[in-house]
Amino acid sequence: MRVYLDNAATTALRPEALAAMQPLLGPDFANPSSPHSSGQRVRRLLDEARARTAAALGAKPSEIIFTGSGSEADCLAIFGILDAQRSDGRGRLLTSAIEHHAVLHAADALRERGHSVTILPVDREGFVVEAALETALRETRAQERRPTLVSIMHANNEIGTIQRIAALSAIAHENGALFHTDAVQTVGHIAIDVAALGVDALTLSAHKFEGPKGVAALYLRNGVRATPLVYGGGQEGGRRAGTENVAGIVGLSVALELAARDVVEQAAATAAQRDAFIDAVLSTIPGSALNGSPRERLPNNASLRFTDVEGQTVVLALDVAEFEVSTGSACTSGSLDPSHVLTAIGLDGAAARGTVRFSLGRTTTATDIARLSERLPGIIGKLRALTATLVVGGGPTHIPERSGSS
Ligand code: PLP
Repeated sequence: MRVYLDNAATTALRPEALAAMQPLLGPDFANPSSPHSSGQRVRRLLDEARARTAAALGAKPSEIIFTGSGSEADCLAIFGILDAQRSDGRGRLLTSAIEHHAVLHAADALRERGHSVTILPVDREGFVVEAALETALRETRAQERRPTLVSIMHANNEIGTIQRIAALSAIAHENGALFHTDAVQTVGHIAIDVAALGVDALTLSAHKFEGPKGVAALYLRNGVRATPLVYGGGQEGGRRAGTENVAGIVGLSVALELAARDVVEQAAATAAQRDAFIDAVLSTIPGSALNGSPRERLPNNASLRFTDVEGQTVVLALDVAEFEVSTGSACTSGSLDPSHVLTAIGLDGAAARGTVRFSLGRTTTATDIARLSERLPGIIGKLRALTATLVVGGGPTHIPERSGSS
């Protein structure tokens, strides 16, 4: 049986979420903005889903804006908040070098539009250094008084490091800036409370916590304004036009409510499996090492690097052995560019390319982990022997293209 260990890329839809969605893909098809009874019934389902989503985050229903993806929610936070704040057409974004491309490419676009962008470095475990944020904010303050947004992800999708968001958001606020966090990898996986995190905006995406794909949300604290990316009808309080994906939103809310209900127990159970796997790898495979923080890491993430092998080749060999994993590197255009995250934590090209990300899920079993732990040393050993032969023989291996980062 195939073992799926790529839950950081996406998760299977939870049966309870599918069951809650089904009527909305059938009899409950009406538009929630319609005044008739069918429309009003769907409106109630939408309102309930919003309340459920808000409750799981410690937020108010009016603070939830549903979007079509986590990427869209990130962009709404970044462009929308800066746009709504600015007085002279220019704002400032401070973000980190290890963000998802939804944030980093938005930062590039902001720069092209004349905003100022500062990319903060991270340390070897992937933490943004609080003093570096403070210094960068103080410098800006001294130079000019531009509206400023800090956007730092809650946990990194490749290496799993969980940032000290409460401390970082406090620093932002002390220096007059607003704070957004991309919590796509943490929501549903660790306990989340927007007030405890002290954030003004937070992104989540349903398909990372056993909800459907193509639906996500931005928490936007009451009182913080964001200019819409999409204009049209008055949906989502006028902040995101378009007839609502009610089935998706209901699926999101049910998956989130269930995940939040036993998040502490589930996180502990998954972290125990993760640690058993990491310990097995480090003790049986010479030349292996863990990326990211050993302590402050996502319960389901084991990002491991192996000397003298290509991560992409390990992924393909594991696929043949019926284990589905991915690399930590987003390679584009057929080239093997090392991942920006792995480069930012100081890995050289070879170490970055030797990385494989194993991401566990709620349904991962101890047997799955035991089987993988047993097979992996042999697979790595064989690939190393093969690589040594190929290096003597020369010539690059073909690496398939990837289109996105997750
Ligand atoms: N941010 C992070 C940290 C992610 O891992 C992802 C997932 O790919 C995204 C944003 C984008 O989310 P979505 O796939 O819903 O656009």
